[in-house]
Amino acid sequence: MRIGHGFDVHAFADGDHIMLAGVRISHNRGLRAHSDGDVLLHALCDALLGAAALGDIGRYFPDTDPRWRGADSRTLLARVLELLAERGMRPLQADITVIAESPKLTSHMPAMCANLAQDLKLQADRVNIKATTTEGLGYIGRGEGLAVHAVILVADDKA
Ligand code: MG
Repeated sequence: MRIGHGFDVHAFADGDHIMLAGVRISHNRGLRAHSDGDVLLHALCDALLGAAALGDIGRYFPDTDPRWRGADSRTLLARVLELLAERGMRPLQADITVIAESPKLTSHMPAMCANLAQDLKLQADRVNIKATTTEGLGYIGRGEGLAVHAVILVADDKA
């Protein structure tokens, strides 16, 4: 077994929605990003790459590359899962924490978890997404952006 951790932050910018775990969530702000700005999937990709000792998301999808402009982050996740599969590795469990003052995510959690379970090919009881605030403190508390931590357990079938 291998464990990986990923962390990502995106700043809010003009817009009318954000993407989280492939779910479009209406909001009075968007997220500044080169891709679709799915900060949750970016943290998850980094956790997977970390578990596999394959570096980080910037190595495979540099934000200087026009191919990834506006990219669907689920496509990036699929590529990361391929990189692991080529090495005999597969996800076993994911636990993710979104840190944001807004938007409220409760009503979107079922769809977000369902997307992750589908993309990671996991049973629903092996995927968890939590949301918390920073009680008004710091850049997240001021509503300047949001952050995500992702922890993933990976089976290494070649080990
Ligand atoms: Mg990112």
